[in-house]
Amino acid sequence: MKISILTLFPEMFHGVFSHSILKQAQEKEIVEFNVINFRDYTEDRHGRVDDYPYGGGGGMVLTPQPVFDAVDDLKTSGTDDYKKQRVVLLCPQGEPYSQKKAEELAKEEHLVLICGHYEGYDERIREHVITDEISIGDYVLTGGEIGAMVISDSITRLLPGALGNAKSAVTDSHSTGLLEYPHYTRPAVFRGLQVPDILLSGHHERIEMWRHQQALKRTFERRPDMLERLPLSKEDNHYLQELKSKEIND
Ligand code: SAM
Repeated sequence: MKISILTLFPEMFHGVFSHSILKQAQEKEIVEFNVINFRDYTEDRHGRVDDYPYGGGGGMVLTPQPVFDAVDDLKTSGTDDYKKQRVVLLCPQGEPYSQKKAEELAKEEHLVLICGHYEGYDERIREHVITDEISIGDYVLTGGEIGAMVISDSITRLLPGALGNAKSAVTDSHSTGLLEYPHYTRPAVFRGLQVPDILLSGHHERIEMWRHQQALKRTFERRPDMLERLPLSKEDNHYLQELKSKEIND
């Protein structure tokens, strides 16, 4: 998969893309990051990519020309893979980002992420260049770079071969629709704190059942809204009912 990122601050990506899973995935040629400074495309003599908003008001606005030209260049100069691109605008007004969206985008061959800056973009970029708008949360960041890193990371770990243990991504919180169950490792007793007996029992089926119930419990306690979107079995509903009555009695 190829991820092209249009930004005014390419250096911001060096640290994040040079470590851990993202670094290994590039070395294994599972993903290729193509970080482009779209200032290089400006036709302005002084290298400017922003201008005052028509109608007045505070802040500067990204001009359409460098972004249109950079995206056109990716379409025409790249290989066939580069031509089939999905163009995502990072924007606090966009669709809230989710694991489901990451799974959808991970199926693309080429993704272009546009990082905004300043007060906003010229609206014609939104109307004519992009296919998706994504917000990484209900808060406002200075620029789209951190959002582009979030999207690149969450997608890369879903690509086949990116994780040492492919099972990790399958059981991760949000992949299953539930928050993940708690983990324990050695020692079995630490400062008098005991690992749950069931995990030391060697009964794989019972351990799986315990983990599933713990995932249900954790989701019920922390994110009950997620349970409303999930098809639950009779056993799950029964277990949740028990948790609810316990909560009332406590
Ligand atoms: N004035 C804009 C508004 O109210 O919608 C906010 C502009 S913000 C200061 C500058 C840039 O940061 C945005 O164009 C976008 O690329 C990025 N950004 C800020 N918050 C974001 C968020 N929650 N999700 C994704 N991108 C964000």
